[in-house]
Amino acid sequence: SRPVRISVHLHPYGDGRTLLLSRDVTALEQAEAMRRDFVANVSHEIRTPLTVLTGFVETLQTLPLSADERSRYLGMMAQQALRMQSVVQDLLTLSRLEGSPPPGMAEWTPVQALMQRCEEEGRALSAVLSQNQPRQHVMVFPSKDALHAEGDIAGVPTELQSALSNLISNAVRYTPAGGVITVAWHRMEDGCAVFSVQDTGPGIAPEHIPRLTERFYRVDRSRSRETGGTGLGLAIVKHVLQRHGATLDIASTLGKGSVFSVTFPANRLRGFSLPV
Ligand code: ADP
Repeated sequence: SRPVRISVHLHPYGDGRTLLLSRDVTALEQAEAMRRDFVANVSHEIRTPLTVLTGFVETLQTLPLSADERSRYLGMMAQQALRMQSVVQDLLTLSRLEGSPPPGMAEWTPVQALMQRCEEEGRALSAVLSQNQPRQHVMVFPSKDALHAEGDIAGVPTELQSALSNLISNAVRYTPAGGVITVAWHRMEDGCAVFSVQDTGPGIAPEHIPRLTERFYRVDRSRSRETGGTGLGLAIVKHVLQRHGATLDIASTLGKGSVFSVTFPANRLRGFSLPV
């Protein structure tokens, strides 16, 4: 049982009677503590690259450096600046998602086109990250359901595309070279549709899984930074999915890999024929 915080106010009437007002402030205090944590995290995420950046500036200003060294330092400075830019960009995305109502369902993408884009993005990212070394294999299983709905408006709204791409980007970033990333789209018996991204990466220990969608939560901070992660990706995915009535399930086995599945309720999908 969690402790409960009660705030109590006494109002004497002056005639010997007193009014006692009590209020449960547990939720308020929790929200306040979360806000404080968040501000501390944001400050840390911005301050770290900023410290590195100022260090480089000082070095460039004070040390006589060769042209090669200067260019190497400038490259590292650009990296730090980009890192800060990604954090700010993701923070803005989160705050936009929190502050606005879900978008209209006007813009839809056919599932096939979506899957193709996911595959292309996954391959491109894998190539960039591996810098032409052996890389992961990104495979997409075309969905029969989507094919049946050809020419129809089967699809998902565009905001969701970025969320699904994010899952693929994580799979690519955390899976070592030679691994396999499988993206699939299935229609379930009950009319729901499941989009899944499976990887043969390091897997995630069970105690971390419930916390992965928290802002700035990372299992391995240095690995996340190395691959350009802000620690906000899954928090954004969760928000986007919530706005669309979809849910995220994470199944993982250490040393074997992970499956991130997104379930779309039947009433949020269009153009699919009903299951037989
Ligand atoms: P990050 O920018 O750090 O990748 P995310 O919010 O996208 O932030 O993910 C949170 C954490 O979840 C990551 O730091 C990583 O530890 C873990 N994670 C996410 N996807 C995977 C995956 N496919 N395999 C292993 N770990 C993952």
